[in-house]
Amino acid sequence: MRPFELRRAASVDDAVLLGASSPTAQQGATVRYLAGGTTLLDLMKLDVEHPAHVVQIGHLGLDRIETAPDGGLSIGAMVRNSDLAHDERVRRGYPVLSQALLSGASGQLRNMATTAGNLLQRTRCVYFRDPHMACNKRAPGSGCDAMEGYHRNLALLGTSEHCIASNPSDMNVALVVLEARIHVAGLHGGRQIPIANFHLLPRDTPHIETPLAAGDLITHVTLPPLPPGTRSGYLKLRDRASFEFALASCAIVLRLDGGKVEEIRIGLGGVATRPWRAVQAEHMLVGQPLTMAAITAAAAVAMQDAVPRPGNAFKVELARRCIVEAIGNLAGEELQ
Ligand code: SF4
Repeated sequence: MRPFELRRAASVDDAVLLGASSPTAQQGATVRYLAGGTTLLDLMKLDVEHPAHVVQIGHLGLDRIETAPDGGLSIGAMVRNSDLAHDERVRRGYPVLSQALLSGASGQLRNMATTAGNLLQRTRCVYFRDPHMACNKRAPGSGCDAMEGYHRNLALLGTSEHCIASNPSDMNVALVVLEARIHVAGLHGGRQIPIANFHLLPRDTPHIETPLAAGDLITHVTLPPLPPGTRSGYLKLRDRASFEFALASCAIVLRLDGGKVEEIRIGLGGVATRPWRAVQAEHMLVGQPLTMAAITAAAAVAMQDAVPRPGNAFKVELARRCIVEAIGNLAGEELQ
């Protein structure tokens, strides 16, 4: 690991200044905030990340879960994944989030990983972690050895000719269907970013993954309340039952009225370069009786733009089945 300067922020405002004021911050991502450290320290040891300055923020009081004035939930940036998954308000009101969190990583990692850290974990593949391999995300313009390499865990949706890595987070897929808002403190004050705008497509700049600027610090995430009668759930398909990324996953928010779909939100993980919302498939189902035929047709539409490669073409059908199963599980006997 290369030498770096460790700084301890005195407050959120101080953290923003430390994050933005370093001379090297203007030249690139050479300042990093240290949250749970489960990704950052790992990548620093591999010499993939080599910040000149690391700013500690774990002691700033950003670790509370509170009921929001609108009846939703406010989740501090430093809330641990395990604490969030087991919070009674999350388990009862947002089961899709609890289930997604508990399907991610291992118990030990969930005890350290934070809400903001999970949001910001790198969209990456195995080649990103190996400095000897070409990777446009790690070294812009160097190429992408994954294109002709090992594809099993790589994306089919939202890819570009420069990067096909899939976003590895389970939590992010749940947050997409919960329509979370990311609250950020920055040099010019605070702002909110809808999660739909938070994770960027790789396009020709895969090294830029979010709209955050130097000094921007995530302070908390808010979840709007869900209307009464809304149910939600998460289904993750993977090579082994624990400590494994999704081959395909599906987060669903569903509200039925007399067997018809009043509202449905479909999120996909493991198959896209960012947490994916299958909007067109949702539109097909709203207002319609929830039948197996309708769900199957919507699942096909959700994957119609997939760009498969030899090693991951099987995930088109896997993702379709994941969607069908996830919706069917939630609908139960109301499936017509
Ligand atoms: Fe890098 Fe993306 Fe290519 Fe993986 S898929 S090697 S992260 S550019």
